[in-house]
Amino acid sequence: MKISYESTRGGEHNVTASQAILKGLACDGGLFMPDQIPMLDVTMKELAGKTYQETAYEVMKLFLTDFTEEELKACIAGAYDSKFDTETIVPLVKAEGAYYLELFHGNTIAFKDMALSILPYLMTTAARKNQVDKEIVILTATSGDTGKAAMAGFADVPGTRIIVFYPKDGVSEIQKLQMVTQKGDNTAVVALHSNFDDAQTGVKQLFADKGFEKELAEKGFQFSSANSINIGRLVPQVVYYVYAYAKLLNNEEIADGEKINITVPTGNFGNILAAYLAKQMGVPIDRLICASNDNKVLYDFFSTGVYDKKREFLLTISPSMDILISSNLERLIYLSTGCDAGKTAGLMEDLTGKGEYKADEDMRQRMTDFLGGFATQDEDKAAIRKLYENTGYVVDTHTGVAAAVYEKYRKETGDRAKTVIASTASPYKFSRSVVEAIEGTCMSQDEFEVIDRLRRISGVDIPRAVEEIRTAPVRHTRECDASDMKKTVKEILGL
Ligand SMILES: *Cc1c(COP(=O)(O)O)cnc(C)c1O
Repeated sequence: MKISYESTRGGEHNVTASQAILKGLACDGGLFMPDQIPMLDVTMKELAGKTYQETAYEVMKLFLTDFTEEELKACIAGAYDSKFDTETIVPLVKAEGAYYLELFHGNTIAFKDMALSILPYLMTTAARKNQVDKEIVILTATSGDTGKAAMAGFADVPGTRIIVFYPKDGVSEIQKLQMVTQKGDNTAVVALHSNFDDAQTGVKQLFADKGFEKELAEKGFQFSSANSINIGRLVPQVVYYVYAYAKLLNNEEIADGEKINITVPTGNFGNILAAYLAKQMGVPIDRLICASNDNKVLYDFFSTGVYDKKREFLLTISPSMDILISSNLERLIYLSTGCDAGKTAGLMEDLTGKGEYKADEDMRQRMTDFLGGFATQDEDKAAIRKLYENTGYVVDTHTGVAAAVYEKYRKETGDRAKTVIASTASPYKFSRSVVEAIEGTCMSQDEFEVIDRLRRISGVDIPRAVEEIRTAPVRHTRECDASDMKKTVKEILGL
């Protein structure tokens, strides 16, 4: 069965998977969606014994139908190899009655690695398939984790360049160090004097700038996106939810067909949307619990049907969730309208023009699989501390939000369904906040003393990604204002 892709805003149809991956964003500003969501063609029982790589093939072949078996298997083998520090790729850890799906065992110790390890392979394969003769410039806005993971994936990949914008004061010290020490002659990192939403909006504007596109093409460049709007990010993320269910089955933690819940610490809505696609493909999943931090725009949306971005942007200890414009929600909106692109485009215009939009009753009926929850910064810290005190298991500040929200959900509803919590970053990535949560204070000014302290608390080895930046030289010092992003891109590309 051939799947083709179309824009959520109606401006593009019949796009192949490889073309959608190359383009990133559709030309009308919409996101690419498959024209149907394929059903798994193997049973969960059959998947139970499969490796991560085998599972990845079973899932991805259904979406990326213009890739040959050989091409796709090569992409998977290149991506999910020994750069992950565990053979299972995504371990499931049981603690306090929930299953933590650890998505942080890749290059940059955050879940973004799950998709960004494979995206460069998908993209270069797609370029070959489509006879692209230009250099691909990956332009990325990051709230801290995407940028590093994308650079790790694309560093020194022939035929590609990557430019990353991050909010100067909106990322953790480790996140910043990871980015400014990035190696690779084709990488560039820019600290933006603004927040993530401005970075993301700026990047979207550059993508939509037709004149700039032409100018770039004349110089032999073509933009693409490694942000979670790219379908090549979304599809690989579906894999680990299928894999998690199969592993629970294999370990006899659940019966065949037993429904589970999934809780995801959410920002741009990519990760939880992947869980929703897994459900649509036939994985027995009941509720999808969308956990927000103090920037609880999604919680308010699922509670009231109104998406309202007109509010103060708060910086929290879970910075990768500090987002007011949740890009991938557009895909759920599209699905909830029954794939009505005109209606979706109208709502997105409302968001740009009026700063808000409202989902009608029909749409809300189609979204009842989702439940919004939020945890304040104090609740996040309390959840990290409690989990540690009760079990010795240490989670990061994003996963802490999910743990707190899950706990509230269980208390409020009495729902005892087995629950998988997406664990999106290693606690080492947010060492200071995690140590503060567990011990009440964190006196040391030195980032690496804090890391050593966390080593003693958690008993977990310090990941290679952190050891590496202890001594790595700073290679990127560029900064710019949000209004100068285009100029900065030109400078970097030598235009
Ligand atoms: C990106 C990120 C999130 C949010 O994921 P979305 O797919 O944007 O919702 C949560 N936690 C961490 C650690 C992240 O890096």
